Amino acid sequence: MHEHDVVVIGAGPVGSYCAFELARNGLDVLVLEKNLPGECQPVCSGVIGTEAFTEFPLPVDSIMSEVREIVLVSPGGQKVFYRPDAVQAYVVNRTMLDEGLRMLARSNGAEIKEGSTCIGLEVTDRNVHLRVSPGPEDVRAKVVVIASGYNPALTKMVGLGTVPGFVEGVQAEAEVDELEQTEVYLGNTVAPSSFAWLVGLQSGRARIGLTSRGQSRTFLSSFLSNPFVEERVRLTGKVYKKIIPYGLLKRSFGDRLMVVGEAAGQVKTTTHGGVYYGLIGARIAGETLLGAWKRQDFSTAIFAEYERKWRQLLEPEIAKGIRFRRFFSHLTDGQIEWFFKMSQKDGIMDLLHKKARFDWHGEFISSLIEHAFFKRYFGRGDEPTA
Ligand SMILES: Cc1cc2nc3c(=O)[nH]c(=O)nc-3n(C[C@H](O)[C@H](O)[C@H](O)COP(=O)(O)OP(=O)(O)OC[C@H]3O[C@@H](n4cnc5c(N)ncnc54)[C@H](O)[C@@H]3O)c2cc1C
Repeated sequence: MHEHDVVVIGAGPVGSYCAFELARNGLDVLVLEKNLPGECQPVCSGVIGTEAFTEFPLPVDSIMSEVREIVLVSPGGQKVFYRPDAVQAYVVNRTMLDEGLRMLARSNGAEIKEGSTCIGLEVTDRNVHLRVSPGPEDVRAKVVVIASGYNPALTKMVGLGTVPGFVEGVQAEAEVDELEQTEVYLGNTVAPSSFAWLVGLQSGRARIGLTSRGQSRTFLSSFLSNPFVEERVRLTGKVYKKIIPYGLLKRSFGDRLMVVGEAAGQVKTTTHGGVYYGLIGARIAGETLLGAWKRQDFSTAIFAEYERKWRQLLEPEIAKGIRFRRFFSHLTDGQIEWFFKMSQKDGIMDLLHKKARFDWHGEFISSLIEHAFFKRYFGRGDEPTA
């Protein structure tokens, strides 16, 4: 039986990008993707920072609009505007983004088998055996990269356990009147300890969605009758729901094995955006694997380098995001209102404009916690005292 150099499980943006990096460096790469083309649309708002477009070969024809300004709306309708000097992010057509990255991987020599689900995985001393449905043949590879998105069954199968938590994300397409900025809604009746959004596309169309720990469809239905939304929004499509990991896999590697992207929990814990962090994970996985290839050493010791590098970059952000969310989840709607009011004073908006970056929130969170305003009203712990 033919043995591939690498099998990547999952042709989402992270798996396809990883396959591209490996194939363009001469490796024989097979990508298994469970969905057939057009069978299942990605559930995603598609808001991707400009930094990701600078660092990675993302297809620019997938860009539908720009995020120039974000308005945060409190439960009672107070607004805080974040207007950075430059465009911070684009809104993409996720199907086109994913397809563009698949084409890039293919044109560099990777084979992508759509409609093939990996249902079993066994790592031996000599190689990796993958059981694939529909069969009949198993697949063999020297190394496997799991890029399957949230899929606890696969990571459990190889003894790496599961990500520690998750949230639900729901979203639908809609026609929306008067949507000039990206709108973000906070409040315990909107999306407890999280947020809802309206993201503009083109010609009066938008994506409306939210994340929550549970009952996300119920929260979305009730958000649609929110007084600031109801009159302006008409759903034009189905509501889709997907699980998003929250927190990191304890270990993302093993002999002949690496886990990347959402499958490893490489997702921002502030906003639950996962494309950029996943691509960073895939880049580091690719570099590590190419180094291992030169030495023909696929042991745990070599792949540990992958984890060390991505944790150094992403873990502080992910940990700060969790801490901030824990604090935020204790706030009552009254406290959120008060926070909105006070944010116009004491230089908080200045801080936001100076420190906030679309994909890196740690510096802003640290500065906010250290700010006199925060210490005065909330103390330094996670529990708000105001
Ligand atoms: C409502 C919502 C809104 C979001 N908005 C944003 C946003 O605005 N910006 C952002 O950056 N992120 C956003 N995200 C998160 C983002 O969609 C994910 O983090 C991103 O898609 C992760 O990429 P990935 O390649 O790791 O996984 P995925 O995109 O999930 O790709 C994994 C692929 O693996 C395949 N697969 C799974 N199991 C198997 C198997 N056993 N065999 C073969 N194939 C398999 C799947 O079919 C899939 O194609 C949002 C998520 C939700 C739910």
